[in-house]
Amino acid sequence: MERCDSCGRELASTWKFCIYCGRPMHRAVPALAAIPAAIRPDLSTEEEAKKYDAPFWVGIGMGALGLVLIVYAAIQIYTSYA
Ligand SMILES: [Zn+2]
Repeated sequence: MERCDSCGRELASTWKFCIYCGRPMHRAVPALAAIPAAIRPDLSTEEEAKKYDAPFWVGIGMGALGLVLIVYAAIQIYTSYA
């Protein structure tokens, strides 16, 4: 038998929370601790994104340069037919 941390009543080991006061049993704490672990992948990917920050901006710059060249080429082609 385990005891409720809140009300001190005896609880069946199979219960996920105290039926008397509704407090989650301390075995449920690892499940709650798993929530930051679930958020952690987002934080790690953010760190990964920071790691690849320079290539990202290089990619944007190259993309913008390519777009400018395409627009320039389109204008050249258009004006040559006009
Ligand atoms: Zn309780």
